Amino acid sequence: MPARNSPPNLVTPADPGATPVASLPGVGPALAEALSRLGLERVQDLWFHLPLRYEDKTHVTAIADLRPGERAQVEGVVEAVERGFRYRPQLKVAIGDDSHQTLMLRFFHFRRSQSEQLQPGTRLLCYGEVRQGAQGLEMVHPQYERLSADEATPVDELLTPIYPTTEGLGQKRLASVIAKALALLPPDAQLELIPPTLCEAHGLTSLREALLYVHRPPPDAHLGQLTTGRHPAQQRLAFEELLTQHLSLKRMREAVRRRHSPSLRGTGVLRERLLANLPFGLTGAQQRVSAEIAGDIAQSEPMLRLVQGDVGSGKTIVAALAAVAAVESGYQVALMAPTELLAEQHLHHFRHWLTPLGIDVAWLAGKVAGKARQAALAQVASGAHVVIGTHALMQDGVAFARLGLVIVDEQHRFGVQQRLALRDKGADIETGLVPHQLVLTATPIPRTLAMSAYADLDVSAIDELPPGRTPVQTIAISNARRFDVIERIHAACLEGRQAYWVCTLIEESEQLRAQAAEVAHAELSAALADCRIGLIHGRMKPKEKQAVMDAFKAGELSVLVATTVIEVGVDVPNASLMVIENSERLGLAQLHQLRGRVGRGAVASNCVLLYQPPLGQLARERLQVMRETNDGFRIAEKDLELRGPGEVLGTRQTGQLSFRIADLARDAHLLPAVQEVGAQMLERHPQAAEQLITRWVGGAARYAHA
Ligand code: ADP
Ligand code: MG
Repeated sequence: MPARNSPPNLVTPADPGATPVASLPGVGPALAEALSRLGLERVQDLWFHLPLRYEDKTHVTAIADLRPGERAQVEGVVEAVERGFRYRPQLKVAIGDDSHQTLMLRFFHFRRSQSEQLQPGTRLLCYGEVRQGAQGLEMVHPQYERLSADEATPVDELLTPIYPTTEGLGQKRLASVIAKALALLPPDAQLELIPPTLCEAHGLTSLREALLYVHRPPPDAHLGQLTTGRHPAQQRLAFEELLTQHLSLKRMREAVRRRHSPSLRGTGVLRERLLANLPFGLTGAQQRVSAEIAGDIAQSEPMLRLVQGDVGSGKTIVAALAAVAAVESGYQVALMAPTELLAEQHLHHFRHWLTPLGIDVAWLAGKVAGKARQAALAQVASGAHVVIGTHALMQDGVAFARLGLVIVDEQHRFGVQQRLALRDKGADIETGLVPHQLVLTATPIPRTLAMSAYADLDVSAIDELPPGRTPVQTIAISNARRFDVIERIHAACLEGRQAYWVCTLIEESEQLRAQAAEVAHAELSAALADCRIGLIHGRMKPKEKQAVMDAFKAGELSVLVATTVIEVGVDVPNASLMVIENSERLGLAQLHQLRGRVGRGAVASNCVLLYQPPLGQLARERLQVMRETNDGFRIAEKDLELRGPGEVLGTRQTGQLSFRIADLARDAHLLPAVQEVGAQMLERHPQAAEQLITRWVGGAARYAHA
């Protein structure tokens, strides 16, 4: 073992990984400082600092064989040099090779000496990304070296790993430190933290071999496999990284579990009255999930539960029942929704259900200002039973008297951080009690993702729709047949049906979105002169929006032209026709949410996906899925397949999921085993689990957010 050669008091063979990087030969204070900026403090941090990608300089590609978009190594002779100053300084160097083609090298930053060295006739070896330029193929700022006329082309023997790095620390230097660290890599018996029985049971191969392979792939390594992260060595490491993330989420949840919450057992009196007042009975799924929640919040251990239910599955009443139990126990409830419109709908429903029971429901949104805000804050502080609002609930100055339960609707719009912030806001300084937490999501999260991204939550599913719903029939129609669609709406309205017409202009500004909706509103108003057409968009005042929604609900409007503000939560059971403009631009999750606004009553509903041809491959597949199924879980699985987890979970979520080597979509097949090994380790080898987290998370604590 090379460790023997190192100073014995610095690198101990017992645990070379725990040694500071400064103990490696040639690592002085400046380099150690640069490494620490990358979170690399110990030798083992270097072992697990994995390449982002690889460069293949093991052979030379003929210019004639280059393809735009690929990275390649090219050897050629300078044919012409031109220095330009037209827009900005530029050095253009044309090189040619035996394939009788020319490649343009472009430099925008260069020294005079450089341009002098690159005279016609100079032999060059370059490496870079090939682009299609105006006058043929080119490379911008390629790496290059000059070769003497008779020298053999110096190609590498191994693929070159490219590491994440920081300013002032070049790839070569970083790679050389990592190589020194790898020389200290102990045998598996010492390195492996996953117990041997579990490794065997799940076919996990040598960790040492895997690390050596990804840091120094052999000459015959499969670049395609390595580039896509599918090489067995990478998969071995991805498994360990996913396991680490899983363990750290579980650990975070254990930390929450060690805190205490008020026991919200309730008396059941108000619950019975609420149920008796409802015009419907709960579905089996609602009863089951409601019982799970009641069981959780009766405990003094904090509840962390995610309720998944497809659009229209009836999550709101389940949340209201939980709220009632909290109020019966003398505690406050906060309900947070991602948009004002959705929060208003909740306010409407909760007041409708709870006011008759003597429960007061307060309102606190971002737009509540001045005196009204002071009054609302005073109400919250003096113990208003239920407080509903947007993320304004988390702002400074909002103080609850006795918060016992936090309900967050439409989870995917909020990040883990926000979820935790609201929980902490409710923590009682005197008693140390934290509120229970209930998260509702209408976006069915594929099981594999839920296991990983929400390992800190228990999951309940409302997997049954209220009775009497008929599945929505969906068709896709080209915008060329827009008039047919308008005719069809006309006929439907004359029959007393109600329709949504959704404008989906994907513009960053709410103003442009509103304008698009105004245009559509004018068009439909002209075409359907004998029907009443309403308009709703995000630029309207809450009161105006509410008035329009009320009119639509009351059946005074036949058609509601809307932006995607109606995406979540809007509930008008009589509406049975949905037209989505430019549907090709929307993702599956959003289309499914929008379509979920119809099909809520007993009437058969229809959804028309208007699209602007020609359709791209992805858009075509999405519309096809929408036509085939109404099942939110199938749609979510498909969405994951088409888009990857980052987008499925929303960008805020993925901030938490930054992996070095794992990729949730690509490696989802590893998750069941990850979960199993994780459970075993937490139960039987908690210390190894802890070490594994330290190893992967290092000083940066990148998954730790509790
Ligand atoms: P979501 O899960 O999308 O939030 P909602 O809670 O808005 O669904 O419920 C959708 C509609 O179904 C509402 O009009 C609600 O009153 C109604 N509803 C909920 N549960 C039932 C039930 N068990 N039977 C009949 N209608 C129900
Ligand atoms: Mg809802």
